Amino acid sequence: MPGHIFGRSTRAKLPFAVGGEGCYLIDAQGRRYLDGSGGAAVSCLGHSDEKVCAALHAQLDRLAFAHTGFFTTEAAEALADRLVEEAPEGIERVYLVSGGSEAVEAALKLARQYFLEIGQPARHRVIARRQSYHGNTLGALAAGGNEWRRAQFSPLLIETSHISPCYEYRGREEGESVEAYGRRVAGELEAEINRLGPETVMAFIAEPVVGATAGAVPAVPGYLKRIREICDRHGVLLILDEVMCGMGRTGHLYACLEDGVSPDMITIAKGLGAGYQPIGALLCSGAIFDAIDRGSGFFQHGHTYMGHSMAAAAANAVLSRILDDGLLPRVRAQGQKLDAALRSRLGQHPHVGDIRGRGLFRGVELVENRETKAPFDPARRLHARIKTAAMEVGLICYPMGGTIDGRRGDHVLLAPPFIISDDEIGELVDKLAIAIDRALVA
Ligand code: PMP
Repeated sequence: MPGHIFGRSTRAKLPFAVGGEGCYLIDAQGRRYLDGSGGAAVSCLGHSDEKVCAALHAQLDRLAFAHTGFFTTEAAEALADRLVEEAPEGIERVYLVSGGSEAVEAALKLARQYFLEIGQPARHRVIARRQSYHGNTLGALAAGGNEWRRAQFSPLLIETSHISPCYEYRGREEGESVEAYGRRVAGELEAEINRLGPETVMAFIAEPVVGATAGAVPAVPGYLKRIREICDRHGVLLILDEVMCGMGRTGHLYACLEDGVSPDMITIAKGLGAGYQPIGALLCSGAIFDAIDRGSGFFQHGHTYMGHSMAAAAANAVLSRILDDGLLPRVRAQGQKLDAALRSRLGQHPHVGDIRGRGLFRGVELVENRETKAPFDPARRLHARIKTAAMEVGLICYPMGGTIDGRRGDHVLLAPPFIISDDEIGELVDKLAIAIDRALVA
């Protein structure tokens, strides 16, 4: 999404959102838009969740804000406990911030401080993947592999190595087994660690299911386990960025639970506040926390609004909806229906190259030629045309121009609310198919 600066320029271009009802957003003209992507994978409970709204009203009546330099709060403590209770093994501590980029910045700084505390000051290098997005602040932007976003700020970015993504549709060679492909691309991490010198490498960061830059691309089975082994062999921290794919989006509270992998740190945001409040979190292992606790005793980092009571209250209510109201199995069931509907409607489409994803996190990749997988000419800006056409038919989806082997390609990301009904899944897929066809002839 472009960084809109509010004011006259935005008013001319965008409709005014004035209301929300379940899976729909409503504009000032009374037009309804089915929110097929939760904005950018944010609104996982839709737009009028009674329990979250009630929790926010109650928190506001009690306490809006207390600075974490002076107080902790029930809301923040309860949230940290619940996030840890459900987290992969070894994850024991939570650092609450206001969004995804802040969580990633905190992860990079925590990694650095950890190695100072344990007497390995040479470790400072970060390895990430080419097809990735980790946020727009300078540290997070440096970690991300999106060339277009990085280009004009490159002199300001810390040096990061970027290895290949695990992107089966384009990366797996003919005749290569899925297992061998996973091993080959994971092997790039080991080669890069050795090239840089293991004693200088601090962390590897990756999205378990790649979101904005690729359109819901999960790693092949076994890939993340190999990555974990490689990190362990070289004493490198594994940071999994679940800002988009976490908080139930894939049908598991943390996406990496499905891969059977425990990272050293996890970043989350988006679905954690579900759009009701801006909130993100960095979770870390007990080992990292202990090293800092025994060393300097505090993490040298912080933001004014971290652990905000209103944000924590919203997140507690969101987590309770996801975990206590049976939404995880629902995401898995509705996700399968969405996948089946996409395949039945678009599976044979001459310009749909791939349909993929997990849970209610799905991607559709558009190609000029299905046989050669050649993407459309970027000058055509197909993704932007799909977004416009979709809004015209009353659908919010998240089309993006990703980078494919240095060239721009087009995909549509779908991340509807977990409460989406069967009928709404039908409507989403119908409207998407119409929008794609209109964009192709526009
Ligand atoms: N990491 C990932 C995987 C993301 O998808 C995003 C947002 N699209 C971010 C980090 C940055 O989050 P935010 O926009 O909340 O700063």
